[in-house]
Amino acid sequence: MKKLQLLLLLNITFLSAFSQTTHTLVNEVSLDSLINTVREFSGEDSATFNDTTVRIVHRVSKKNNNLAADYLVHRLKAYGLQVETIDYRNGGRNVIGTMVGKTNPDSVVIISAHYDAVANYCADDNASGSATVIEAARIMTQYCFRNTVKFVFWDEEERGLIGSRYYADSAFARGERIKSVLNMDMMGYDGDSNKVFDIHTNSNPENQALKDTVLYLVDTLQLDLVPKVINPGTTRSDHASFWRHRYPAVFCGESFIGGDPNPAYHTSKDRISLFDLGYYHKLAKLAIGLTIEMTGVIPTVVERDTITACFAYTYKDTVFNTSTVYADHLTNALGCDSIYEMDLRITTINDSIERNTIGLNALDTASTYQWVRCSGTSRIPMYNQKNKAFRVPLDDFYAVILDKNGCIDTSDCVLVTLTDIEKLHLAVAKLYPNPTSDMVTIELFDVVDEATIYVRNSTNQLVGQTQCYNQKVNKVALPGANGVYFIQVMTSMGTSTYRVIKTAD
Ligand SMILES: [Zn+2]
Repeated sequence: MKKLQLLLLLNITFLSAFSQTTHTLVNEVSLDSLINTVREFSGEDSATFNDTTVRIVHRVSKKNNNLAADYLVHRLKAYGLQVETIDYRNGGRNVIGTMVGKTNPDSVVIISAHYDAVANYCADDNASGSATVIEAARIMTQYCFRNTVKFVFWDEEERGLIGSRYYADSAFARGERIKSVLNMDMMGYDGDSNKVFDIHTNSNPENQALKDTVLYLVDTLQLDLVPKVINPGTTRSDHASFWRHRYPAVFCGESFIGGDPNPAYHTSKDRISLFDLGYYHKLAKLAIGLTIEMTGVIPTVVERDTITACFAYTYKDTVFNTSTVYADHLTNALGCDSIYEMDLRITTINDSIERNTIGLNALDTASTYQWVRCSGTSRIPMYNQKNKAFRVPLDDFYAVILDKNGCIDTSDCVLVTLTDIEKLHLAVAKLYPNPTSDMVTIELFDVVDEATIYVRNSTNQLVGQTQCYNQKVNKVALPGANGVYFIQVMTSMGTSTYRVIKTAD
């Protein structure tokens, strides 16, 4: 069972990237996840966080909506984000989760919604937008992005865009490089089911470009939505705080100004039961798609190796005994996922041998075989015995050395005891030369106590007889004319006859 590896590992490395794109990530936007958040955040369902179960009955800022803010903090932290709350004034609190960009950390993409409300529930205005920000965080935190993305919830939109105004003013003052702002405010209502949604932009070229990106995504993501561009767009929601500083910003939402307003607007009748859930799902996909597009996903790098090994391959303390494809998830220098995938091709050899009608047979199919005689710890190669099956010449211990794909394995030594009939057919190993001009050499497989060799001519006339004792190689002459002769070898095991031709020199 000695195993040897001649051919060492052959590694072929491929570098490739998973095709993570805006499109593939948008497919992860889950309606169930959105609904769950809307229901918790609009007080339809209780929510459990910080070890307590609570109901967010309202999010009205002047009535203290800190419970709603705490909920958002909890949700963002659960995705591993850095979260800050900015208490910009008494009763006013923005919530911001940040994921720092891997290659352009100073370039900031904002996806945002106001979380305050004017009445109980207020599912559409604006638990719908808030839940979309949460869903964006859930998905995007699983990947790496070039730019920094901020998941932002504004307070006091309903009191005059106060939270967003504070942020935009201080961002401008500190020179924050905001690449784009998406504001979502009311996304769940499509009373006339015409799939129309509003894109609010203005003549600022960067806002035009953002609007064009939204249109491009509606098309390429095949969202089955009907965009309605409103230019100049409303200044009645938080994007307007950014327009004031000429930060690129766009507002996407249901067709509120465009002609299909939610009749429950700003009342406690604004509940999720009025949502067109399919429409809401599509608008959320579009919003998250825009954010992903602007932030720039960095596809996961996959390194693929084909590894050829004998018997087993050990990778990081794990021993692989069979061929398999194994993926190891690593972290690269950017702190992003990188996957090392091994196509392990492991050669295994079944080194069993079995007794068959002529001696021994190797069970496995190898590239080459070499039969050996076992003598103590020595393995003595048998001359020219290189087939899968091996005609055993005499009682002894034998083994086979198998070579498969450069992997070498030696079987256990097996004792073979030949039957009398087997021995009879095995007595003569070689008889040469044939044809011959006079002498024939008869080589037995082994030294035998006594052998009698008869030589007969073509008419079966006995023309020679030799008695051999304890010999292995014997020579006999073929007296007489050229032609056919018969050599009969008789041992205690039996008799075998061989045909030899005598010719002239
Ligand atoms: Zn609103």
